[in-house]
Amino acid sequence: MPDDTIYEDLGVPSVVNATGTKTRIGGSRIRPEAVDAMNRAADAFVRLSDLQARASDLIADVTGAQAGYVTSGAAAALALGAAACIAGDDIGAMAQLPDTEGLPGEIVMARTHRTGYDHALRAAGARIVDVGTNDHHLGTGAQNVEPWEYADAITEDTAAVAYVQKPYTEPSLEAVCDVAHDHNVPVVVDAAAELPPVTNLEAFINAGADLVAFSGGKAIRGPQTTGFLAGRAALVSSVAAQHLDMHAAEAVWEPPTTLVDPEALGGVPRQGIGRPMKVGKEELAGFIRALDAFKAEDHDARQREWRARSERIAATLDSVAGVRTSITAADKTAVAPELTVTVEAGSAGISATEIVGALRREEPRVFVGADDLPEAFTVNPMCLTDEETTYVDERIRAQFDA
Ligand SMILES: *Cc1c(COP(=O)(O)O)cnc(C)c1O
Repeated sequence: MPDDTIYEDLGVPSVVNATGTKTRIGGSRIRPEAVDAMNRAADAFVRLSDLQARASDLIADVTGAQAGYVTSGAAAALALGAAACIAGDDIGAMAQLPDTEGLPGEIVMARTHRTGYDHALRAAGARIVDVGTNDHHLGTGAQNVEPWEYADAITEDTAAVAYVQKPYTEPSLEAVCDVAHDHNVPVVVDAAAELPPVTNLEAFINAGADLVAFSGGKAIRGPQTTGFLAGRAALVSSVAAQHLDMHAAEAVWEPPTTLVDPEALGGVPRQGIGRPMKVGKEELAGFIRALDAFKAEDHDARQREWRARSERIAATLDSVAGVRTSITAADKTAVAPELTVTVEAGSAGISATEIVGALRREEPRVFVGADDLPEAFTVNPMCLTDEETTYVDERIRAQFDA
């Protein structure tokens, strides 16, 4: 294993990432073409609004949406999306946020869609109105949330409906969009980690979403601090007006008209709620190259590569006493195949929790997935090289021999 990364140089242990695109250990491995673009971007100047307009065209092209906008991550995309739904093209409202007094400041959301990331919606000033129950888990056959419950919660104070796209979320996005649109309310979708499959770039827009937030630093493998919104042009314009630093001499203020409409705004917006979520020219250039490359990639070949890595580790662990392995999503070609390693501590002599803890204390640290503790840990192949796969395999085996 190479122990000469920049992090060792800095006196900090590096990590071998066997748990997928997790922000807290650095997300993903940025594409070489994106690094090259960032290097070149660093050496010259550009008007950020022009570069955002270029990114908007690309995002529109790959998602089928009217427009797009690059943010400093999917969470920032949610905050900016909420701000756009609340303020629209009203520059007075933009200047007022996060104070929503007198503005439609509520975002309706199913209880079962709530996550820690919805703090980003509240950061723009929104108040979240929960609907539905957690009934599904009672086993009565009832649904967690019904479309009419969304309809009942929508009032003149509603800015948007927020939806978290996960394989288990209900009702369908189509059904929620139908209800929201009947009441002239936009739907904002958190799809941060819903790639692969690449078809999801278009799927939520096709289902009727008005804004969709994706992470640029997960499967797309762009710069870590990027994400993007895809959606309706009017909402994207509001995002741009609240994010770009545009407070300039009005007489010479000519923003790209595909992104910002000075007529509709009626003046130059001041630094908005999005200003603390800056996106630099380097991130923009890197993101554009990464999204291009992600779109063009051979996604089936990627799946085969990931599956082969998961199978390699499964093959060696299967012979260990007290260990059972299975590959999740083995029947699917769209989701990265993840290995679940179930450990029966009695016969293995060590528990899954002890293994995960010990691996994280090594140098380099080895991170496997801890979501299925205490029975099992997981190995996600997305962020591993072949060499690292061999290393992770060895290090896991070594825990049982210790
Ligand atoms: C990762 C993630 C985010 C945050 O994405 P960033 O690009 O890191 O800001 C938000 N929501 C969900 C569901 C996520 O998985």
